[in-house]
Amino acid sequence: MPAFESDPRVPGGGEPLDFIREIVKRDKLSGLYGGRVVTRFPPEPNGYLHIGHAKSICLNFGVARDFGGVCHLRFDDTNPETEDMKYVESIMRDVRWLGFDWQDRLFFASDYFEQLYGFAVRLIRDGKAYVDSLNEEEIRRYRGGVTEPGRESPYRGRSVEENLDLFARMRAGEFPDGAHVLRAKCDMAASNMKMRDPLLYRIRHATHYRRGGKWCLYPMYDFAHPLSDAIENVTHSICTLEFENNRAIYDWLLDNLFPSQRPHQYEFARLNLDYTVMSKRKLLALVEEGLVSGWDDPRMPTIAGMRRRGYTPEGIRLFAARIGVDKANSRVSMELLENAIRDDLNALAPRVMAVLRPLKVTITNYPEGKVEWLDAPYWPRDIDKGGSRKVPLSREVVIEQTDFLENPPADWIRLRPGGEVRLRSAYFIRCEEVERDPATGDAVGLRCTYDPDSLGKPAKGARKKTTAVQWVSAAHAVKAEVRLYDRLFSVADPESAGDGKSFTDFLNPGSAEIVRGCLVEPSLAGSSPGERFQFLRHGYFVADEGDSRPGALVFNRIVDLKDRYRKHLGKTD
Ligand code: ATP
Ligand code: MG
Repeated sequence: MPAFESDPRVPGGGEPLDFIREIVKRDKLSGLYGGRVVTRFPPEPNGYLHIGHAKSICLNFGVARDFGGVCHLRFDDTNPETEDMKYVESIMRDVRWLGFDWQDRLFFASDYFEQLYGFAVRLIRDGKAYVDSLNEEEIRRYRGGVTEPGRESPYRGRSVEENLDLFARMRAGEFPDGAHVLRAKCDMAASNMKMRDPLLYRIRHATHYRRGGKWCLYPMYDFAHPLSDAIENVTHSICTLEFENNRAIYDWLLDNLFPSQRPHQYEFARLNLDYTVMSKRKLLALVEEGLVSGWDDPRMPTIAGMRRRGYTPEGIRLFAARIGVDKANSRVSMELLENAIRDDLNALAPRVMAVLRPLKVTITNYPEGKVEWLDAPYWPRDIDKGGSRKVPLSREVVIEQTDFLENPPADWIRLRPGGEVRLRSAYFIRCEEVERDPATGDAVGLRCTYDPDSLGKPAKGARKKTTAVQWVSAAHAVKAEVRLYDRLFSVADPESAGDGKSFTDFLNPGSAEIVRGCLVEPSLAGSSPGERFQFLRHGYFVADEGDSRPGALVFNRIVDLKDRYRKHLGKTD
């Protein structure tokens, strides 16, 4: 057995194995497939991948890696109407970005159309499939209900010859959409309704993005999926729980067509994440109705959105490892994802200073024209990394408006009239005077003095009860736009929030706050798109891949430092 790779940051270090890995281990030990392990990730190219798919990708590729096997990337592209090459490309990019490699094992179900057709003909020859000419509505009625058995179609007794002839003419394009379907001859009284003569093929006169107009007969998912698995010699076909009842069809087809060494299907719980929606249909609706800026809008739960938001592949994989693989559906809190992202960024993103809403501070006893370049460490002490940069200090600096209050509560640890705070990595300043707008009386600036003896010295006395605030020298500051992203929805479960409302009724109106006129330290002037930082006391930020460039910096908030939703408001930032 190979050593199972485990993530040292995951509690328990990856042991014990999840139930899928237990099954794979069992089969590997018993020699069921001669020790081979072949999994596949089978997306339909009809949308972008989302964080739910990431769970499936981590599982399928992860199992292959852990057991010395391989994982195929297979496009399950059997619906001509909705599929597109642009989705194939986005999916390949996203899987690679997540850190997985299918090597030369890239497959398309649409490449198997001829083979699949051959399997259907074999079933017809064996008397196990027939052409049905009921229409869609009649098929539904004949299927019966949960408590009521189905009825056999009057066309069920067609001879093999008639079925072969009709099926060939269906392929040849003699019939319009819906005129006939091919069905498996299973059991119209089966308690599992999926087994009541499931549909295998339907007529669709449509152009397929890869096969063009070559076919007008398309296999159903329930037919194409198991047979594609078998064609590729997959061993473990891992899918989500909603396919549990389809497993009977999976087994029926493979028992009939691939009696030996055939794959088996196992189901795990899909990921449901709070404060978002995960179905591709709904994500597409958000894009098409212009409710987001695109599939890669940084608020989208898509891999492309998360990449643009600044999430790391390592953080997403850490999240997938932490949620594990379960047999029962449940919801996962957004905090779990955000915590994994924070935990990954913590040792990755250097600490720098940015002032989002500047308040001017004049240090009256600091000599006019003097500039000191002070050493500021990139990392806190508990992170075992060295490195620092120089930040300029001059007579005029800016601090965060929220770091000053004229009439603060008793436990205020930031600046107040007559009070002191430390400018981070620099000196203590004392607020001597408030400058006011003569018209409104609002504070527009502070006049402070600094303590030239306080650099690098530990705080004593009353100073110990204060915090250190971020600041930027006004003359050296670099302008930036900052986009404060928040959860896309304002309720945890927008899909079942009820009362005949649509999930789009629950969009969070404050999910993208744009702050212009931010001032960041000069070391950020050359930030390249995709570079990540911790803006001290604000959270983690990334220079936006789409819009940021030196000279016109744009930073996205990836995630804040702590969960603002639980935080005691006003005490900290
Ligand atoms: P959606 O339901 O979002 O439209 P889908 O199931 O139609 O997605 P596919 O392209 O068919 O999308 O999915 C590819 C694989 O990803 C399937 O094996 C599917 O089971 C898995 N998958 C899809 N959504 C999730 C999820 N939320 N959690 C885990 N796995 C998922
Ligand atoms: Mg699907």
